[in-house]
Parts: sequence; structure tokens; C-alpha cells
Amino acid sequence: MSGTDRQQQPPHSQPGPPSPRQPAIVLVEPQLGENIGTTARAMYNCGLTDLRLVRPRDGWPNPRAEAAASGADPVLESVRLFDSVSEAVGDLTRIYATSARSRDMVKPVVPPRLAAAEMRACSRRGETFGVLFGPERTGLTNDHVVLADALLAVPLNPAFSSLNLAQAVLLISYEWMLAKDIGKETPQESTDPRSELPVAGSWPATAAEVDNFLQRMEAELIDAGFLYPEVKRPIMLRNLRNIFRRARLTDQEVRTLHGVVRSLSGRRNRRQGAPDAGESDASPKSR
Ligand code: SAH
Repeated sequence: MSGTDRQQQPPHSQPGPPSPRQPAIVLVEPQLGENIGTTARAMYNCGLTDLRLVRPRDGWPNPRAEAAASGADPVLESVRLFDSVSEAVGDLTRIYATSARSRDMVKPVVPPRLAAAEMRACSRRGETFGVLFGPERTGLTNDHVVLADALLAVPLNPAFSSLNLAQAVLLISYEWMLAKDIGKETPQESTDPRSELPVAGSWPATAAEVDNFLQRMEAELIDAGFLYPEVKRPIMLRNLRNIFRRARLTDQEVRTLHGVVRSLSGRRNRRQGAPDAGESDASPKSR
């Protein structure tokens, strides 16, 4: 294809020391194969290859996506499929949810340039991070947004701000590419994520570690009668999830919270005469 030098490798695959991490691009329930293909093309234009699909409507592989990708094969070949958003982001420590619409939620809203600079800082610290994109017709649901640390909104004409899916991916991937050197020269910036954290020797918790704790806490709260009336349960759970997401927990803090919930539920069980469940702390994956 014109304008493409096949001898050139994207920045991440050049020989040398292991390169910093890149954002994962997560398409949630994409509908049109064409949009998946043009997303792959936009990503590879900007040197990105980690494309994750959550329940694509027309299945995978998809010939329409292949045609529209116009040769962005390294992206298509490494596509990973997931059954749920939480599985798709399980290994990530920082997550952005894209939306043209503001949400009735306590979440920071960042424009692409700022998000790109933040992601570059994450990358240099060896963190894993990614960006969620919603289905063409409906966008992301609030239950998806709640999994994210921040909303990423491209500021456009307020009367017409909704982008095509692949165009949104392109704008954000392009900002990521431009931000390559931002913050690199800041002398005090450390490459060790532990130096930024309140608990010495710990790491930012992955989304899966936080989710595992939240599921446990939710089950205990239901058991304790806190999450009633049932009609209010989804919003109460979303509020709780937002609180813990905002806290940017470390793996050590998640272990402590497991212990807190275990001790409270054990106490309640003993008061009620039931034997202590005797569960052990969920230990985080070694990294
Ligand atoms: N009708 C949907 C829009 C879906 S567009 C809605 O009202 O939300 C498909 C996806 O592109 C969105 O879910 C979002 O991930 C991304 N997107 C579109 N416009 C955007 C914008 N201005 N800023 C950030 N992401 C945007």
C-alpha cells in the first residue's frame, strides 16, 4: 500500500531493551466488522497492536474486518476475545472509559492529550493500562464505566460530539503516539511504580484483584442485609465500586481489605452461632 514501508517495524518491536508498555484497546461488543478492521488499521498506524474484543456481535474472525484493516495484520493476528469486560481488563492497573456523553458519576473526565501523558507515565513505570470503547449504537453502559479510573472524552462540537468508533480509536492512539517524549525528562520521575505508592514494596492492584475483593465484599453485604431494598442494589454497588476504583489500591491494600471483610463476617457468623468460614486472603498474582 502506498505510504507504507514494510521494512519498518512499529516502535515496540524494534530490537533492543524491552520497550515500555502500550495501551490495550478494548472494543466492547462491537457491531460492525468494518469498524473492527478500521480500528485495527488506526491502531497500527500509531504503532499499537494489543486489540481485545468483548463479544463482537458477528463473531471472530470476521472477513469484513480483515478487508477493512487493509493489511494491519499484526493487530488482527494478535486479537484476543473475551466474554466479559472485567475479564478483558483483568490484568490492567489503569483503565480509561471513552464516552462522548458525560455520566452522572464521580469520575474524573480527561481529554485525550492528558490521558496520553498519564498513560506514558504508567508505561514508564511498567504498569499495564488500556482504553475501553463502547458499541456503536449504545456506547458503554454505566456498569462498564464503573470499572474505569477515568472517563476519556474527546471534546468536540457539543451539538454533535459522537465519533465513529474507529475515528475515536484513531484520535486517542494518535495522542498516545505524539506524547512519546512527554515527561521523559522529568528528573524526579521514577521508573519504579512502588516509589509512587503509599505502601512500601507493593504494586498497583490489577482490575482483577480489585474485582475479586469487590465481589467478596458485595456477597458479604448482601448477606448482612446492607444492599436492600433490592431495587437500589445496582446503584449502591456502582457507588461502592466507584469509591474503591478511585482509591487506586495497591495489591497490599487489597489483601488488607480482604482481611477486614473476613474478620467482620467471621464476627457476624460467630454472633449468629455459625462456624467461621475460615477463608484465607486471596493472594495476588506474583508479578
Ligand atoms: N451512541 C453512542 C455513541 C457510540 S460511538 C453514545 O451515545 O454513547 C462508539 C464509541 O466511540 C463510544 O462508545 C466511545 O467509546 C467512542 N466515542 C465516540 N465519540 C467519542 C467522544 N467524543 N469522545 C470519546 N469517545 C468517543
